[in-house]
Amino acid sequence: MAPYRTAPATQVAIPSTSKSIEEQTRNGTTATAAAALAEVPEDVLAALQQEHIKIKNPERALSKIAKMIAGGADELLVISDFDHTMSRAYCEAGERCWATFGVFEHAERSGCKLGDLGAKLKKLLAHYLPIEFDGNMTIEEKIPHMEEWWRLSHEAIVESGVERAVLEQLVLHSNIRLRDNAASLLAHLESAGVPLVMFSAGVGDVISIFLAQRLGAVPSNMHLISNMMTYDDKNAVCGFRDPLIHTFNKNGTVISKAEEHFYEQMRARDNVILMGDSMGDLHMDVGVENHSEADTLKIAFLNKKDHLLPYYLDGYDIVIVDDQSMDVSRKIMDAITAVRK
Ligand SMILES: [Mg+2]
Repeated sequence: MAPYRTAPATQVAIPSTSKSIEEQTRNGTTATAAAALAEVPEDVLAALQQEHIKIKNPERALSKIAKMIAGGADELLVISDFDHTMSRAYCEAGERCWATFGVFEHAERSGCKLGDLGAKLKKLLAHYLPIEFDGNMTIEEKIPHMEEWWRLSHEAIVESGVERAVLEQLVLHSNIRLRDNAASLLAHLESAGVPLVMFSAGVGDVISIFLAQRLGAVPSNMHLISNMMTYDDKNAVCGFRDPLIHTFNKNGTVISKAEEHFYEQMRARDNVILMGDSMGDLHMDVGVENHSEADTLKIAFLNKKDHLLPYYLDGYDIVIVDDQSMDVSRKIMDAITAVRK
């Protein structure tokens, strides 16, 4: 992964608004571009031409979408981050929505007594968050700090001894919200038989409890790779399973034996849609075998951090700016799953 500080100092020209997709591809006159444009339905093109959808290389993005439409549902695998990707970054009223760790940080708001857990986690956040976004450090320099942050956070949660039943109440009263249209997207992928990898550096138990509460059940097509708690005989948390997953190791390095078996089953699925909201989400597809960069359509949600746009445009095929819905992804996935061979 390119460290932030090697990114260009000048602002990347932002192409891809209204007519530029068609102009750039048609005027580009390459046979591939014209063919790709012909394969992509009008409603998908219209969705991509919205002002807040940024694409550095429309020809490449459209070619990937056209290839995926040709492959259909049977060749598709979706890999998504959870916090502020599947879930909203901002609520309707404009306040920040919580990530999964927020359930513990704000436990006292839900009336649950977990000692000083909230204060401990907020102190860790204040120290380590500036490191995560430090433009003068490379990813490699940041990793030891991230490992320490996550390890100390997990230790604090374990020390609190929170019980599963209490955790369920905390999640129920949390400020975590699904993006608009996310529930219907998840239901659609499940009914279309498209596997979904939910790959999260948050707390996996919070994700599965949240989805079960909001959707009635965890989607049967979902494979969760995250930090999972272990419980004692009183159903209180007593540890976290290995490996520890933090912002910058969301890739093949944390894919355990169990995951290898899963990815082996995914071998025939050549087309991957990856969705994330962080530069750390860019390589979540690395565990997929025989897979090249050209096989993954990378969609980013950029939430109120406009200064990061040039980096996102370099890494992601499509950047969705300040949009708390799944509408664009849904349009693309609908076009792909409409094809059944
Ligand atoms: Mg995220």
